[in-house]
Amino acid sequence: MDLTTLLIHPDPSGTDHQDGFGDLAPPIHQTSTFAQADPLCLGPYDYSRSGNPTRGAVESAIASLEGGTRGLAFASGMAAISSVLLLFSPGDHIVASRDLYGGAYRALTTLFARWGLETTFVDATDVVALSRAVTPRTRAVYVESPSNPLLTVTDLAAVAALAKEYGLVAIIDNTFMTPFLQRPIALGFDIVLHSATKFLGGHSDVVAGLAVTADPATGQRLQAVQNTFGAVLGPKDSWLLLRGMRTLAVRLAAEQATAQTLAPWLAARPEVARVHYPGLPSHPGQVIHQGQADGPGAVISFELHDATAAKLFMRALRLPKLAVSLGGVESILSYPATMSHAAMPPAARAERGISDALVRLSVGLESANDLMEDLDQALVKAAPGD
Ligand SMILES: *Cc1c(COP(=O)(O)O)cnc(C)c1O
Repeated sequence: MDLTTLLIHPDPSGTDHQDGFGDLAPPIHQTSTFAQADPLCLGPYDYSRSGNPTRGAVESAIASLEGGTRGLAFASGMAAISSVLLLFSPGDHIVASRDLYGGAYRALTTLFARWGLETTFVDATDVVALSRAVTPRTRAVYVESPSNPLLTVTDLAAVAALAKEYGLVAIIDNTFMTPFLQRPIALGFDIVLHSATKFLGGHSDVVAGLAVTADPATGQRLQAVQNTFGAVLGPKDSWLLLRGMRTLAVRLAAEQATAQTLAPWLAARPEVARVHYPGLPSHPGQVIHQGQADGPGAVISFELHDATAAKLFMRALRLPKLAVSLGGVESILSYPATMSHAAMPPAARAERGISDALVRLSVGLESANDLMEDLDQALVKAAPGD
């Protein structure tokens, strides 16, 4: 079944709607616990941390969209990431892309490092470098492609093959692409992570995280972490996420189309020093990206000539909201240096090329013309010598 159809009918067999009323919108099971008919034979749900039918609906939806066997919903993207990291043990080692979301970098370098999980960060555009970082204690490889905020591209099939060769768990954060544009399990990945706060939710009204596992055994282990650690998504937020996911295909297609118009236009502007977008022929990962994803997505990052120009530009913008986050119906401009990557020390940012002149634009559903007009007036105000 096509993904666009699955988004509307994630459960074609209809097993999630057993109350007999035929609601088209799934009911919100706002309950902490479930009455049992028999003390020795519990029903399918006993307590909402362990399982809840509304959360179950979003969990099975994401599993089917990603082509995995098990989906699990968490209180945030970071809760999903941290719960997956709890599959490992002190003394284990992870090879991670050096271009990771700032919060994931912080979790690995502070909380999990203190706890004894060691991480080596490598430029994941170079799969040979990834393999060189593997040690006898390495248990997993963890990447993002395209990455946040520089949209670097990693060869996912090559990473999955490397993981297979060394017996590692291959983990990817698929937030920027969503299953609409990229399905890493089909490329050989074991665990797919999402900040569902972004494109999957899509309306800037819910914080949520999802994880999907390729095989049932890993799914079971992660479900045990979810139930034990307890960072679950509540029923109302699960419902909001389900509602957002239904329109993912039309939203992301429209946002991507506008991004594809804006990226070359930005690249041609004298006020813009560099554009990072995997849809541009100038992007070093464009060919690899084209081979593993169905489109370049709706996030563009670009550099102005210096930090002052970036500041003037951001202050002059009217339509894109200056905010943390991305993937909403409204365009969102963020400043990695003080927002998504504030958790990364300045030296680590500089090492990765995340300069103070870099801004990240998540293209929303406004008209391309209106966005261009607004970007134009803000760029003019940021022009050097003004
Ligand atoms: C936002 C984001 C996260 C963290 O998700 P939260 O829902 O904010 O906890 C993780 N990865 C990526 C790529 C993100 O953009």
